[in-house]
Amino acid sequence: MTSSLHYDAVVVGVGVAGLTAAIRLAEGGARVCVLAKGVGSTHLAPGTVDVLGYRPERVEHPAAALPEFVGAHPDHPYALIGPDAIAPALDRFAALIERGPQPGYRYTGGLDRNHLLPTAVGAIRPSALVPETMAAGDARSSVPVCVVGMRVLRDFHASLCAGNIRRAGIPARAVEVEIDVGRVEANSLGLARRFDDESFRAAFVGRLALLLRPGERVALPAVLGLRDPHGAWSDLQRRLGRAVFEVPTLPPSAPGMRVYNALVAALRAAGGRLVLGAEVLDVEREGDRVTGVRAHTSGHDTIYHAGWIVLATGGFASGGIELGSDWAASETILGLSLQGMPRPGEARFTADYFGHQPMAGVGVAVDSSLRARETENVYVAGAALPGAVPWREGSGQGIALATGHFAAQAVLEREGAAATA
Ligand SMILES: Cc1cc2nc3c(=O)[nH]c(=O)nc-3n(C[C@H](O)[C@H](O)[C@H](O)COP(=O)(O)OP(=O)(O)OC[C@H]3O[C@@H](n4cnc5c(N)ncnc54)[C@H](O)[C@@H]3O)c2cc1C
Repeated sequence: MTSSLHYDAVVVGVGVAGLTAAIRLAEGGARVCVLAKGVGSTHLAPGTVDVLGYRPERVEHPAAALPEFVGAHPDHPYALIGPDAIAPALDRFAALIERGPQPGYRYTGGLDRNHLLPTAVGAIRPSALVPETMAAGDARSSVPVCVVGMRVLRDFHASLCAGNIRRAGIPARAVEVEIDVGRVEANSLGLARRFDDESFRAAFVGRLALLLRPGERVALPAVLGLRDPHGAWSDLQRRLGRAVFEVPTLPPSAPGMRVYNALVAALRAAGGRLVLGAEVLDVEREGDRVTGVRAHTSGHDTIYHAGWIVLATGGFASGGIELGSDWAASETILGLSLQGMPRPGEARFTADYFGHQPMAGVGVAVDSSLRARETENVYVAGAALPGAVPWREGSGQGIALATGHFAAQAVLEREGAAATA
């Protein structure tokens, strides 16, 4: 059985790009439905907003570097939307987080200067906009760092992290706190829930305080709460009497889930709908217009009719684009043309894992308004776009935010123009 529903706009994908686009559309007055087969990279990635970290040398000031960067990369998403479109999207994101369900939790920074923060293994990584709970980890500070591990969290290696921070020239050492979380092993999500509890934090501080030396700042895995991270972080700083900062962990990512929770709350507050577990299989068309998408949920197909579609399905990582056994890449829902494919005979991948990978820049071919070239009303945002290599550039969430915002704006402008015509 197939049923049908009607919206002004359907967004496919619930990563940062899809959520950003959907919120902007809903706030602009559109009736919006977001369809996603599952959550996106939010639950895996560190939760920082990296806009431009490398070009390929490390970028200190993204605002100053972006004009030259887009000049050198005319097919890059930032070149299509123009660097001036990035700052408003970042401001909007920061405002949404502050307004979100996690009281007092906020992001800090912007395009003027990248923060330099340790990764889970202590390598130093540039990022433009970061959770306030991570900011005190900036590697420009020479204040000694004590990296705190917990035996129950096996995915976080405090001594490895501290060793690499030391290599970056900052005095650092590791300690381990034995704490009872009610089970032998926990992941970041389980621990984040425990840190929401004040009595757990008090017990944790009771053990940690004995291990700290005067003048040290404290690095903890990013597990300081899910419901009230600002409260948990402030409480730890107050109890320990020193700066505390979170270091991203291996997935799952508590800071990424905080982003997801805040953006979904903003979508719902603006009147938007989210259907999770809805895999979009194909579309209905009239000429070059897509009039609806067919999604499969719980053994049931539904046609979601809409005037506008925003495709935010991620790239290869989330299945928005696939590489077949015949080495042919394809966009999985509409079969849209791709751009950036290596030519026949050219290498698709190289042996150096972290080196230049030609396939990484493949994405859906769009015009300068992010409209998919063969369609009248499908816009593309985020990692499904061509021309970027987020892993090497340190640009993933920046692209998702800025293009999500831009694609929604393009739809609203055309909708407004149609209404006044
Ligand atoms: C582990 C990890 C770490 C990362 N670390 C960094 C980092 O440090 N710095 C950085 O700059 N970038 C990083 N990135 C990259 C960055 O997170 C992504 O580039 C960015 O989040 C992409 O967002 P998106 O919204 O475009 O896509 P995604 O977040 O991938 O979301 C895609 C969405 O589309 C949905 N979808 C796909 N196909 C369908 C379909 N047929 N029907 C319905 N739904 C569908 C998926 O379920 C998902 O909801 C990391 C990514 C990962 C996975």
